Amino acid sequence: VLLLGAYGMLAIMCAWVMAWLLSGRDVRTAERVVLGCNVVAVLGQFYVAPLSSSQDPALVLFSAHGMLLALSIVAHLMFPLRQAGALSLACYLVGVLLSCLALMQRGGDAITWLLLRVHLSSGPLLLLILVLAWYRSRFWIEYTGRLLLERQARTDPLTGLPNRRVLYQEIEQLLLDLGRGSPGGVILLDLDHFKAINDTHGHPTGDDVLVQTGQLLRLDLRSEDILGRWGGEEFMVVLPATPPEGIGLVAERLRARLQNTPHPVAGIVTASFGVAAARPGDTLGELTTRADGALYRAKQGGRNRVVQAAEAATHPDGVARLT
Ligand code: GH3
Ligand code: MG
Ligand code: MG
Repeated sequence: VLLLGAYGMLAIMCAWVMAWLLSGRDVRTAERVVLGCNVVAVLGQFYVAPLSSSQDPALVLFSAHGMLLALSIVAHLMFPLRQAGALSLACYLVGVLLSCLALMQRGGDAITWLLLRVHLSSGPLLLLILVLAWYRSRFWIEYTGRLLLERQARTDPLTGLPNRRVLYQEIEQLLLDLGRGSPGGVILLDLDHFKAINDTHGHPTGDDVLVQTGQLLRLDLRSEDILGRWGGEEFMVVLPATPPEGIGLVAERLRARLQNTPHPVAGIVTASFGVAAARPGDTLGELTTRADGALYRAKQGGRNRVVQAAEAATHPDGVARLT
C-alpha cells in the first residue's frame, strides 16, 4: 500500500511539474519539489523494505539505495557542495534508521544481516560521490582561477586590448605564415602630442582617450587582425594574410577614422603610423624596428600621417606619404 501510495504521489508530482514548467514558471522551484518528493519516496522505501512480505526485502532496499545515490548526484548538481553533501548523508542515515525501525517491528531474523550488508555496501558509493563532488568543486575553483590569471597576463588592464606579450606571439605566427607563402605585416601607431592632452585635461581624460582610441581602431579591422597596446600611447596592429599595399590602406583608414572622430573632452586626436610588411627571413626585432623607423619618419614629417617602411627604402627622402 505504501509503495502504491508513493507511485501515486510521484505521478501527481510529474503532472504538477509538467503544468508548472509549461506555464513558464521558475525551474529551480520545480527541481526542489521533484527532489523533495523523491527523497520522501526513497525514505518510504527504506521503511517498507524490511516489512515487505510479497517482495524480497533486500531487493527493495537495494533499489532504495540505488535511488539514494542517484538523488545524491542530482543534489550535487542543484546545490553547493556542503548542502548537497549534508542532504545526502542525512538521507542515508535516516534511511538506515527507518529500516532498522522496521526490522525491530518485524522482529529480527536471518534477513537482518543481509539488510545490514546492503546498507554497508551503499555507504562507500555514497562517500565516493561526495569525494568526486568535492574534487569537482576544487577543480572548478582552480580552473577558473587559472583562466582568469592567463587572461590577465594577456590583457592590458586600461584598454582591455591584448598586450605586448600577445603581439609578440602574433608577430611570430605572422612570420611563420610568411614562410608558408602568406603575406602580412604590422602597423605601429603613436598618438600625436598626447602629453599635451594629459597636461591640459588631466590624466583620467588621457586614459579615456586611450580607451576610445582602442575602440575606434577596432571598428575598421577584420576579426583576424590583432590590435594590441604596444605601450604608453602606442598601439600595434598585426595583419595576417594581407599584401603590403593592403597594409598601407588599412593604416590610412585607421588614421582617417581617428581624425574624423573627436573625443568629447579632448577634441580631435590624431596619430602617426609606421607600416612594415614582413619580408622573408625577417625576425620579430627586424620587422618591429622597421615599423618603428617608419613611425619616427611620420612624426618627423609632421604627424597625422602614414609612412610605409618598405617604400621608404626606395624613396630618396625616405618618406612615402599615402595620405
Ligand atoms: P608625440 O606626438 O611626439 O608622440 O608627442 P607625445 O606627447 O604624444 O609623446 P611623449 O612621448 O612626449 O608623451 C607621451 C605621454 O603619454 C607621456 C605619458 O605620461 C603619457 N602616457 C603614457 N601612458 C599613459 C597612460 O596609460 N595614461 C595616460 N593618461 N597617459 C599616458
Ligand atoms: Mg605620442
Ligand atoms: Mg610614444
